Amino acid sequence: CHASTDTNDTSLRKDYLPVHGVSEVIVGVLGGGQLGRMLCQAASEMAIKVMVLDPLVNCPASSIAYDHMVGSFDDSETVHEFAKRCAVLTVEIEHVDVGTMEKLEQQGVDCQPKASTIRIIQSCRINISRKVHFSRHGIPLPDFMQVPRGQVTYLGYPLMLKSRRLAYDGRGNAVAKNDEELTSAVNALGGFARGLYVEKWTPFVKELAVIVGRGRDNSISCYPVVETIHKENICHVVKGSCSLELFLTKDGQVLLNEVAPRPHNSGHHTIESCYTSQFEQHLRAVLGLPLGDPSMKTPAAIMYNLLGEDEGEPGFHLAHQLIGRALNIQGTAVHWYDKPVEAQLKSMLKDEGSETQTAVSPCVGIIMGSDS
Ligand code: ATP
Ligand code: MG
Ligand code: MG
Repeated sequence: CHASTDTNDTSLRKDYLPVHGVSEVIVGVLGGGQLGRMLCQAASEMAIKVMVLDPLVNCPASSIAYDHMVGSFDDSETVHEFAKRCAVLTVEIEHVDVGTMEKLEQQGVDCQPKASTIRIIQSCRINISRKVHFSRHGIPLPDFMQVPRGQVTYLGYPLMLKSRRLAYDGRGNAVAKNDEELTSAVNALGGFARGLYVEKWTPFVKELAVIVGRGRDNSISCYPVVETIHKENICHVVKGSCSLELFLTKDGQVLLNEVAPRPHNSGHHTIESCYTSQFEQHLRAVLGLPLGDPSMKTPAAIMYNLLGEDEGEPGFHLAHQLIGRALNIQGTAVHWYDKPVEAQLKSMLKDEGSETQTAVSPCVGIIMGSDS
């Protein structure tokens, strides 16, 4: 890609360096997990330098990032220091300190997505304003309410309790089918004090996800809809081809579950199955490059997300067996996320008590980009 000196939104921004091309640009990513790692992989093809900020010395992106600043993306001072070294700041996780991003924007730092977008998405889980925001735009949602103690059962069982903060991979969710389960669900999520809201259980027939890229010129590229199958609220299989997480109900309604302003684990298959992967698309979008072609180049694709979290050694063993089998199937690709083991993580993370900050290992995605 040859950068132009034009400030026109469809070409590379002038201040990003139009001298030698994108290789001069440093894209800063808040978070160096599996998504950060895959962003680094996509970036290397265009010689874009990706620098990550992550508290773990051996975070998944660390070994392939142009640079890794060890530090918390929740710590204002650290994020300020980090931002000084980057031409553009983006995220692989929405649980970042949005107040700091707002300050950085005021100081002229280019944040993509904008802090205001992240604020709306965080509020998705933080308060009802999310619902108001989406409702105002006519987007159908599951029934929901803040959890006012004593009125929790107003929506009727079964209920899905959700913690407002730092939830991912279903770790902030708990289902309750009766009063007894409600008590244990509230306890499992750390009690009312932790901040909870409740959604009516949606008896969906399918879960769907759509990744949408938006360029700086507001061009939109939409990836094919995928079906996601969750096991214990964790994405297990992705079939098909930001991701919007949707519920398809028996009567054909499509309800919005969640929005993520970043690459998403329902889109890993795009690396093998689409002309432009979601990771390359993200980089193109944040740098103001023209968006690529999101259509599939394989007739179909399926991804298995393997998590060995609870099984310990047997988990590793099973993962290795499955990887061995996958490597023998034509058209299959294996992506090892290289996540540090949980015990290691626990000892490294500041907030050891937090259920939501523990990660899983081994984690691997097996992508079959063929129609076999
Ligand atoms: P992630 O960010 O990793 O997608 P999360 O922790 O933010 O996960 P949600 O997406 O809210 O959690 O929920 C995880 C899964 O739990 C959903 O994909 C779905 O399978 C189930 N779920 C969530 N809300 C409901 C609901 N209201 N009714 C039925 N199932 C639900
Ligand atoms: Mg989420
Ligand atoms: Mg979700």
